[in-house]
Amino acid sequence: MALHIEKIAKSRISEVDFNNLQFGHEFTDHMFECDFEDGEWQNPVIKPYQPILFDPSAKVFHYGQAVFEGMKAYKDDDDKIWLFRPEQNQERINISAERLDMPSFPKDLFFEGLTTLLKIDSEWIQKGEGNSLYIRPFIIATEHGISASASNRYKFMIICSPVQAYYAGEVRVVIADKYSRSANGGVGYAKAAGNYAGSFYPARLAREKGFQQVVWTDSCTHEYLEEAGVMNVFFRINNTLLTAPTSDRILDGITRKSIIQFLESEGIDIEVRPIKVTEIVEAARKGELLEMFGAGTAAVVSPILGFSHQGENFELPKVENSYASFIKKSITAIQQNKAEDKFGWRYEVK
Ligand SMILES: *Cc1c(COP(=O)(O)O)cnc(C)c1O
Repeated sequence: MALHIEKIAKSRISEVDFNNLQFGHEFTDHMFECDFEDGEWQNPVIKPYQPILFDPSAKVFHYGQAVFEGMKAYKDDDDKIWLFRPEQNQERINISAERLDMPSFPKDLFFEGLTTLLKIDSEWIQKGEGNSLYIRPFIIATEHGISASASNRYKFMIICSPVQAYYAGEVRVVIADKYSRSANGGVGYAKAAGNYAGSFYPARLAREKGFQQVVWTDSCTHEYLEEAGVMNVFFRINNTLLTAPTSDRILDGITRKSIIQFLESEGIDIEVRPIKVTEIVEAARKGELLEMFGAGTAAVVSPILGFSHQGENFELPKVENSYASFIKKSITAIQQNKAEDKFGWRYEVK
């Protein structure tokens, strides 16, 4: 299946101020598109970034049959372009797709579309500290008709957005005791669009109380800590890091699993096990809860300064030599080809 390429007449890159980017707001000149029709993926094309036209009855608008991925490309000082564990994203979008009863997207075509697009839009990947290109692959149900059943037509797309270092500001969180992001047997482990839609309202309520995010707990008892906003979450009690095991309800983050592997190789204590809310609250009272941070592609590591639990507020101490900053520095150095890649995580786009 030949990849058709249609290039833009004139690049928009000169209109973009790369020093003042709003996260995910500007997009590169081109996008990748491929349609699923008559039981197969067909007509892969790279074409100028542009709006897409759908029938108002397209199933994605009504039933939310949509999954996505988030990944980043970096350019090193020698103009080489690097991805971080992209095969993990490729596998995961198909895991997500299966759960939403959508067809899987072929690995070869994923990589051909992705790498060709990155080479065509390589000028948009800026060198230098904190700069990268955020890549958003996604699949949506495009069949027209509002019967409540899986679509017979889909569109796979990749769009790309230049970003600077992600800084969320000071983050304090509310530990969820009413709302849930996901449930047993549900779609929490999938990167399904609807998981995000369902999290916005509880996040708004948290913001209205002065907290930037929600830490999700298990939907049955709200006794176990699971994720922070749309990131996996780590806790440091004394010199041990804790994170919850993945499950139906917890997304298997690539940043999370990379951090676990990195910590093990550094000889830092890391426990992957269910974490009780009461354990964290008690550790905080004793001054033993030294750090909390979210982990995900956009920010890599996002420190959390405090939390609220059933109306009581806890503030974390300021620690020297924080694990969060050590991990962030170490992982980003690997991502940007500034440190040895002993895990084989980097993937060169050439
Ligand atoms: C995407 C996502 C993450 C982080 O995954 P990464 O692969 O590290 O980017 C964590 N939790 C949720 C709910 C997510 O959607």
